[in-house]
Amino acid sequence: MRPVKQTAAHKTGDFGELVCSNSLKSDSENTAPWLLKQELRKLGSVSMQAAVQARVPGGHALTVDRDQFARALTVAIESEPRITVVREEVCTVPEEGIVVVATGPLTSGALAEDIGRLTGSGGLYFYDSISPIVDAETIDREKVFAASRYGKSLDGSDDYLNCPFTKEEYEAFVEAILTAESAEAHIEEDRAIRKGKVPFFESCLPVEEIARRGMNTLRFGPMKPVGLDDPRTGRWPYAVIQLRQEDQRAGSYNLVGFQNYMKFPEQKRVFRMIPGLERAEFLRYGQIHRNTYINGPELLTATLQLKSEPRVFFAGQISGVEGYVESMATGLMAGRWAAELAQGREPRPMPRATAMGSLTHYVAHADPKKYQPANIAFDLLPQLDEAEKKKFKHDKRARHAEVCRRAEAALEAYERA
Ligand SMILES: Cc1cc2nc3c(=O)[nH]c(=O)nc-3n(C[C@H](O)[C@H](O)[C@H](O)COP(=O)(O)OP(=O)(O)OC[C@H]3O[C@@H](n4cnc5c(N)ncnc54)[C@H](O)[C@@H]3O)c2cc1C
Repeated sequence: MRPVKQTAAHKTGDFGELVCSNSLKSDSENTAPWLLKQELRKLGSVSMQAAVQARVPGGHALTVDRDQFARALTVAIESEPRITVVREEVCTVPEEGIVVVATGPLTSGALAEDIGRLTGSGGLYFYDSISPIVDAETIDREKVFAASRYGKSLDGSDDYLNCPFTKEEYEAFVEAILTAESAEAHIEEDRAIRKGKVPFFESCLPVEEIARRGMNTLRFGPMKPVGLDDPRTGRWPYAVIQLRQEDQRAGSYNLVGFQNYMKFPEQKRVFRMIPGLERAEFLRYGQIHRNTYINGPELLTATLQLKSEPRVFFAGQISGVEGYVESMATGLMAGRWAAELAQGREPRPMPRATAMGSLTHYVAHADPKKYQPANIAFDLLPQLDEAEKKKFKHDKRARHAEVCRRAEAALEAYERA
């Protein structure tokens, strides 16, 4: 619809306008973001071709000149004779034919309303409130303890890992949160969200805002220690941060209630002050921002089709993924599947062993009750079995290289079939 109608963040009329960072993340071999890009390159992604044309020096990251990138993509789309570009706001999901909805995190109001009607109540979200995730292997088990509040858990097991704070540790931690540098807010609405000034956002306030309300507020909120006996002292700690195991993300834990908008390096510094997380590796950082997305696991198949209306596909950020390259990847997949459907074939899910297949598996199979968009990380990919893990025990790089090798082989087999 741009430039006829703009969003709160975009400035031009070009396709693929990158509104914030100009980085498409790491391109170091055998990292998860590299694997995703590598799969896109293998499938002939036009976005990746545009990125090569627009590449600027960026160390290990694939960094692009944003104007050149968007221009290259726009030229590629406009010069394709089989594409007709219509620059107008679409206010309803078309009632007939095959449709790919890819209107992004800032989908216009009228269309969002119509998507809400299609997806039913609770199926469409307008804000992201994401807590950091840490790699389970990097948690110090000598310091944390497993327990559920008052020993109550759904299945009798200890559901949470608890990081116990002394008074001194707690006060230093709160001080660090209050003085940490914030990530820039790119649209006005994000400033309001941060202050909890958006209706119904009170239940998932950023930790910075909770900390600002008083030294003890976190201790009576997400850091409350009640009912959590530390087996080493037999008492409740002064304060606690709870870590909850992720369901579809193997070997990783979520910091419960720690949505925030600190800069990523600041999150690493501040959250490594948490007892037990001194050497934690973060698979995802916290975020809090305006974002339109649907509840993938409730609504979508692993081929990004609406379960209730398979002619409608969702792609990009609105399908419940997070990030530029993840949006490119779901776009490419939805496009291919829509073409298969148009040719009278049943869309085939991507192999689970690939990064693309793992992303769509997560979208379709994560827990719908607490669904949060994902960006690509190794914990979304299938894990090696115990024997293989032992083989690579002390060599994470070799383990990741093996996961990447399997992904590439699976993609090749998928393309041959
Ligand atoms: C402010 C902000 C900053 C972000 N920063 C980053 C970042 O630094 N790094 C990162 O990896 N990710 C970032 N993201 C997240 C996300 O990866 C990007 O927004 C990404 O561009 C999403 O791609 P997309 O194709 O799904 O949507 P978009 O790139 O937004 O494309 C959707 C298009 O649909 C159009 N549209 C919307 N509604 C309608 C309608 N009703 N009719 C017709 N057209 C419509 C929009 O104008 C837009 O051109 C950011 C998101 C936001 C909102």
